[in-house]
Amino acid sequence: MKYKVPYTVTDSLSSWCPGCGHGIVARLVCEAAEELGISEKLIVVTDVACGSLLVGVLTFNNIGAAHGRPIITAAGAKRARKDAVVLAHIGDGAAYSIGIESTIHAALRNENIVALVVNNGVFGMTGGQMSPATLPGQKTTSSPAGRDVEYNGAPFDIVKTIGQYDIAYLARGSVDSPAEVTKAGKMIKKAFEYQLNNKGFSLVEILSPCPTNWGLSPRDSMRRVKEEQKVFYPVGEFVDRGGSK
Ligand code: SF4
Repeated sequence: MKYKVPYTVTDSLSSWCPGCGHGIVARLVCEAAEELGISEKLIVVTDVACGSLLVGVLTFNNIGAAHGRPIITAAGAKRARKDAVVLAHIGDGAAYSIGIESTIHAALRNENIVALVVNNGVFGMTGGQMSPATLPGQKTTSSPAGRDVEYNGAPFDIVKTIGQYDIAYLARGSVDSPAEVTKAGKMIKKAFEYQLNNKGFSLVEILSPCPTNWGLSPRDSMRRVKEEQKVFYPVGEFVDRGGSK
């Protein structure tokens, strides 16, 4: 059990909604950075979505990218500052829709960065619209009758998309239980280690609740992550070439 708060977490109140998974993921980043001794050289790239709210509560160096562009901005930052550790902290709406070309081409180039995608299946900051990762039948503000796969297309799966690319690491975790949070933290730490060892592109997706836009209590939101999101998007490590190149 860990009770010590990483020093990169400030006393400021966060702006995340009660029950949001973003705060858990942000803390995992802080813990991994502290354990690896990289907190002072970590650059976190965010956009204008809910992930950007970590800027107000964490002390990392930060670059604010255009919406959907943290991954490509992080790639540029890393090329310019090879001594830094660079993390693109982004949501599923941005990584898989607005910035999908950045995600694909950064992976194809095996850019030596970490992309951390918090997947809650909606565009959270802009009002809960359907994202590429919205589940079949899931109601959102732009799909009030539920996602119709025939009409809207099938949900996007990053593992099926870049799983065959020559990248260092691809994993999906979840925050629906303490055990899963621990596993997710190890995934984030491993991705940082691979960047430190110049192994190339790592993407860690974390399944996470958005109680506000799901219209559920925090407890029911966690239940949905476990019983619906995780069933559709299995967690695990899908590419792990960090040690072999
Ligand atoms: S809108 Fe959703 S993702 Fe954004 S802070 Fe609130 S609960 Fe979290």
